[in-house]
Amino acid sequence: MKKKSDDTNMIKTKMREKAKLFGFSKTNKYDKVLKNKPKIKAIIFDMDNTLLDFFGYKIKATKAALKAMQKAGLKIDSKKGYGKMFSMYYIHGFESRMIFQKFLEDVKGYADPKLIAAAMIAYREAREKALKPYPDVKPTLRKLKKMGIKTIIVSDAFRLKAWLRLTSAGLQDEFDTVITHNDTLDYKASLKPFKLAVKKLKLKPEQILMVGDSQKRDIEPAKRFGFQTCIAMYGKKHAPTINVPRLKSFKDVLKFVR
Ligand SMILES: [Mg+2]
Repeated sequence: MKKKSDDTNMIKTKMREKAKLFGFSKTNKYDKVLKNKPKIKAIIFDMDNTLLDFFGYKIKATKAALKAMQKAGLKIDSKKGYGKMFSMYYIHGFESRMIFQKFLEDVKGYADPKLIAAAMIAYREAREKALKPYPDVKPTLRKLKKMGIKTIIVSDAFRLKAWLRLTSAGLQDEFDTVITHNDTLDYKASLKPFKLAVKKLKLKPEQILMVGDSQKRDIEPAKRFGFQTCIAMYGKKHAPTINVPRLKSFKDVLKFVR
């Protein structure tokens, strides 16, 4: 039989672990905070760099598109071409549908359809291969489902682009709802997608945890809206400048549900 002190020690260790996760050094401070927090009944996930490695796939797919254009006759140094392509994303947006056209107009003077076709085909092929969820995403989502926690996506991406990425990553059947830019015609910073999420979930904001990688686009608006929040650190280079619990790996999200 286990001694009572063993149980107490185990609870203390667990509390210490959680306290660390929340960025608190003192267990009692964490305990006080957790006691005041309502139980989480649903989790809203951002998609890009939270569920799947958006930048990782973008780099691979862009390199493949450039290589295909070179093979189809484009004369450009690989390093220069790659740099140019990425500067195009920053000018026209990472979701731009005209990125190869704009790139070719810039480097060749006109949008050569033969090169655009080569780029698009290579890009799509590379996307299929490169778009994978982060480790443990699927088993963790299934555990949450078993626990009765609703899981939804709120993404600023366009609807079809979001579904293409979700499907490529094999996550298309894992969520109760997917809310994209098209559903409110606004971004998370406006709070409109969050209002829609709460309406669909029929829960109070404080019963919902928002998980995202961007302090500005996910965490700050979610906090303003009244959600509980935690920031995904595994796909990030920079630490947040605000006090917010951090996820070192996706499965850490299980520590937030009781
Ligand atoms: Mg993101």
